[in-house]
Amino acid sequence: EQSLAADDIARLTRWADDFPEPGVRFADLTPVFADAKAFRDIIAAMVAVGSEADLVAGIDARGFLIGGGVALALDAGVLAVRKAGKLPPPVRSQSYDLEYGSATLEVPADGIELHGRRVLVIDDVLATGGTLRATAELLTAAGAEVVGIAVVLEIAALGGRDRLAEYPVTSLLQV
Ligand code: AMP
Repeated sequence: EQSLAADDIARLTRWADDFPEPGVRFADLTPVFADAKAFRDIIAAMVAVGSEADLVAGIDARGFLIGGGVALALDAGVLAVRKAGKLPPPVRSQSYDLEYGSATLEVPADGIELHGRRVLVIDDVLATGGTLRATAELLTAAGAEVVGIAVVLEIAALGGRDRLAEYPVTSLLQV
């Protein structure tokens, strides 16, 4: 079953071949988020799957856009999961492998109690799943419970869902 937003996501996504490097087909959701109905339907669909969450974690940077909207609608808090170097210390970090090299994600290590929080993790695109997996591990290591993962678009051929088998994963459109 596809979400209410699926048709709009399919129609409005801007695909780019060989970006940011050769062989990658990049899904740019900018026009999707700029469409009021598509944005509203995306938020509503994610609210429906994340109703037990008390914190919404959006992944740098496009996850921030959706995460803020979902958190407001759920009456939950919002957490920006940042790329390395954006937050002052102390931070909790999780590194993970990319196809070329590695990346690190961070959240504050003080000032916010993550232990016992029920977190809905949000990003725009599920590709290989490495980014979402690292985020879920980072939050779990801090004592939070990842109650769900939600993305707008899932590139199914890259197998990301298999790397997230411990978590309930919802995607609004699978391609
Ligand atoms: P991955 O860790 O491979 O699942 O990649 C997910 C992260 O990279 C997300 O934050 C996406 O925004 C971005 N990303 C990876 N591949 C693509 C793609 N083909 N199109 C758009 N975004 C992508």
